[in-house]
Amino acid sequence: MYDVSAIRKDFPILSREVNGKPLVYLDNGASAQKPQVVIDAISTAYSHEYANVHRGLHYLSNLATDKYEAVRGKIGRFVNSASEDEIIFNSGTTEAINMVAYAWAMPRMQAGDEIILSVMEHHANIVPWHFLRERMGVVIKWVDVDDKGALDPQAVIDAITPKTKLIAITHMSNVLGTVVDVKTITAAAHAKGVAVLVDGSQASVHMPVDVQDIGCDFYCLTGHKLYGPSGSGAIYVKASRMDEMQPFIGGGDMIREVTKDAVIYNDAPMKFEAGTPGIVQMIGLGVALDYMTSVGLDQIAAHEASLRDYAMTKLAGLNWIQVQGTTPDKGAIFSFTMEGAAHAHDISTILDKKGVAVRAGQHCCGPLMEHMNLNATCRASFGMYNTTDEVDTLIDALELAHDLFG
Ligand code: PLP
Repeated sequence: MYDVSAIRKDFPILSREVNGKPLVYLDNGASAQKPQVVIDAISTAYSHEYANVHRGLHYLSNLATDKYEAVRGKIGRFVNSASEDEIIFNSGTTEAINMVAYAWAMPRMQAGDEIILSVMEHHANIVPWHFLRERMGVVIKWVDVDDKGALDPQAVIDAITPKTKLIAITHMSNVLGTVVDVKTITAAAHAKGVAVLVDGSQASVHMPVDVQDIGCDFYCLTGHKLYGPSGSGAIYVKASRMDEMQPFIGGGDMIREVTKDAVIYNDAPMKFEAGTPGIVQMIGLGVALDYMTSVGLDQIAAHEASLRDYAMTKLAGLNWIQVQGTTPDKGAIFSFTMEGAAHAHDISTILDKKGVAVRAGQHCCGPLMEHMNLNATCRASFGMYNTTDEVDTLIDALELAHDLFG
């Protein structure tokens, strides 16, 4: 039995008030709150177990290294990679996709080669490809979503041409919640020799992920959305693709030997991790993943699905609210606009007065906003600790906003 009240007690911030009202935190899509075990792990690491990793021969360095390196296996198990050596640590999905652009795509692509993106990609999965367009003449091909916000995998597959080198696609839209059939896309792409990068920044928080089942080449994770510290993250890179990558950031740790004339690189994955990493952040992420696993990934997904269904039913009763993206293949994230002129920023300000935290704006998804012909939406996104009572508070606050602006 999913005990949401017990889970809520594990997150100290949830008991605070905002503007004199109990906090209703529905901005998990931007960043999730942290359970006490993660906060304690950060404190313990700095209080008792801190030193730089990998390069020391002293007790604390070895201890910190063991704790830090143990996270590689935890992330590998979390996404079911064939080996923990397929996990590269980083600061999050933005860094991950930039790494793939520089380390894998740039050396392998030339002017006229094509990258396929969907219109609902986050800027983190757009701007690095614009770099290749601007600097190398690579062509970005866009695939639209339909009027329900669904992405037909066949539309992505049909966009493949002999010039296509990469499909870079989200697993779950951070605006609409749409879940993309990345497995079908990957199978078809591979049959045509095209690599697939999946932006799992949102999906990995809301559903169990199996990279071997998906078959993709790259899968990105964001630690701070996975209830872990900010500045933590990782990318799964299939071993055969890892062999194709050139080092991206150069410096300490990613080398075995440096002379005046030559460099011998470390083995992967460390070849792609230069400099002092986010040691404590990654240790905290490991604890966050343990925490999620102990609650149960399927159980979290089921709880969030029931919250989403409850919210969708309630919102359907408000005929002045337009939910953007009505496809049933949807995670625990949804965007909406309000009839009349109320701007998303104004709505979110009213909600905030009631203690309800949502996000308003473009959500780093300029092309999607252009496609939907909107300048902004409000977005509510659930985490494992949200409740139906909180959905009711959201609805009450929306009614207030409608009274004021509608
Ligand atoms: N991709 C998606 C779908 C996101 O929602 C986000 C963050 O909002 C990112 C990428 C960027 O992730 P990070 O904060 O790890 O750089």
